[in-house]
Amino acid sequence: MTKKIFRSIMLVSVIAMLLGLVSVTGILYQNFGDQIYTELEREAAYLASGVELEGVAYLENLNDEDRITYIDGDGTVLYDNQADQSSMENHNQREEVREAAVTGSGSAVRMSSTLSEMTIYYALRLEDGTILRVSSTRASVLALVLQMLPALLLIFAVMILFSSAFAIRLSRNVVRPINELDLEHPEDSHIYEEVEPLLSRLYRQNRQIQGQIEAARRQQEEFSLITENMQEGLLVIDRYTMILSGNSGVARLFRVKQVKVGESVYALNRSEDFRRLIENVLEGRHQDTVLQLDGSHVQVIGDPAMDGGSLEGAVILLMDVTEKVERERFRREFSANVSHELKTPLTSISGFAEIMQSGFVKEEDTRAFAGRIYKEAQRLISLVGDVIKISQLDEGEVPYQWEEVDLHDLAREVFASLHAAAEKKNVHLYMEGGSAVLSTVRPIMEEILFNICDNAVKYNRENGEVFLRLQDSENEVQVMVRDNGIGIPKEDQERIFERFYRVDKSHSKAIGGTGLGLSIVKHGVHFLGGKLSLLSEPGRGTEITLWFHKKRTEKEGKESE
Ligand code: ADP
Repeated sequence: MTKKIFRSIMLVSVIAMLLGLVSVTGILYQNFGDQIYTELEREAAYLASGVELEGVAYLENLNDEDRITYIDGDGTVLYDNQADQSSMENHNQREEVREAAVTGSGSAVRMSSTLSEMTIYYALRLEDGTILRVSSTRASVLALVLQMLPALLLIFAVMILFSSAFAIRLSRNVVRPINELDLEHPEDSHIYEEVEPLLSRLYRQNRQIQGQIEAARRQQEEFSLITENMQEGLLVIDRYTMILSGNSGVARLFRVKQVKVGESVYALNRSEDFRRLIENVLEGRHQDTVLQLDGSHVQVIGDPAMDGGSLEGAVILLMDVTEKVERERFRREFSANVSHELKTPLTSISGFAEIMQSGFVKEEDTRAFAGRIYKEAQRLISLVGDVIKISQLDEGEVPYQWEEVDLHDLAREVFASLHAAAEKKNVHLYMEGGSAVLSTVRPIMEEILFNICDNAVKYNRENGEVFLRLQDSENEVQVMVRDNGIGIPKEDQERIFERFYRVDKSHSKAIGGTGLGLSIVKHGVHFLGGKLSLLSEPGRGTEITLWFHKKRTEKEGKESE
């Protein structure tokens, strides 16, 4: 802008200077010409009176710088002070002479052949009809200008210098207030009247933009508040797979330090499945898939983001479904196991019944066959009973009430119910500790104690011992059941709490085990908010310890095997 103003000022200055110089030169030249003309007129009048008194002799005695020509009425030159009159041509066709002959006086201006000089003629008719002509020669305008050129150029240069200095100052002065405008607060600036409308428009736009920024900031805050508190990962990408936004859930699920905006979404996960999902979503298709990431399962739901019919990017939702996938896998395995466990006794029952039906069984063997059928049926009943219990614990829908229970009484009842079985194996049952009251779900606690003590008897040896100790402290109750039975090998200790896991399958089955007892114990302890630990050594025995809060505590999450 400064340059433009500078150039405009300079242009105007140069034009003004040129016009000024031309007009001054013209006026001067004109004045000069007029002056010469007046002088010639005066000189002619003065000479005319001399000639009328003394004739040509008067002219011959004169010593004049201007040219004087005395012409007869017919145009013949009678005298000329600068040329030989006899060699001069007839002058009656000369403009000034003709005019003087008619009107009494005449004038003319004639240029030299080089245009560098011009001659002004003034002719005056005398009383006797002769004509006296006076002329003066001077430089033409062109010559005059050429003569004055160095001086003119000098003046021009000086003026240009002044003009440019002035133009620079002026243009800077004009632009400075505009440059120094406070665009944040245009309403406080009052520089030029002409820019007031612009400033007020700026002010209005500023307020509008500030309002929009504030609204966008608030929306961003709300968005972050929502997305950062989400368990799920939320990812927004553009159509070129660049990340536009991603919450901390994305970083957590993909196990990266942070989600970098502007980076390709493929930097988060380079698996083929993820790549295909992104490609399909960016082709406008809804996608839903589960990715497997180092032991976890992430469900990825992708939806194309459309704007007025054109695809702008995609919104991707990530959810940790590890627990769900594991639970499903677990359920499938459990169903398969249950079916298998049910099939074995049912096949036996069906086989025995078929043989009996065929009539091949002797009278005396019928009781034995019926006994086998009964035993298998009992196995089925306890299996189905255990499956029901474990399913109820799984679903967290145990239809029992929390109540105050004395574990000492409960343990005695359990011991009593195991009395016959223990006696059969010659296993001795001992108990230590007094009353220990706590808030619990009686049937679950009973099932836990029974299963542990039952195993301690079942997997014991002849003349073995089962020792139960109750310890009542301020906030919790500790139950320890120790036997000196067969013990559990180190490598199986982790797995015995799994469903249907048995160290010695045939032995377990032979003694009526379902393989669900310890699994029920583990679930039950978790349901009651307790803890358990196992110590065992093959050949020496097993010790299981349980801890329970005295006051009811809610379980934390669902138990998984
Ligand atoms: P089961 O119905 O077969 O007894 P459990 O779930 O109760 O099933 O026990 C799982 C397995 O752990 C048993 O099959 C057995 O091999 C082992 N086990 C459990 N308790 C004891 C124990 N006190 N001593 C030795 N082995 C045990």
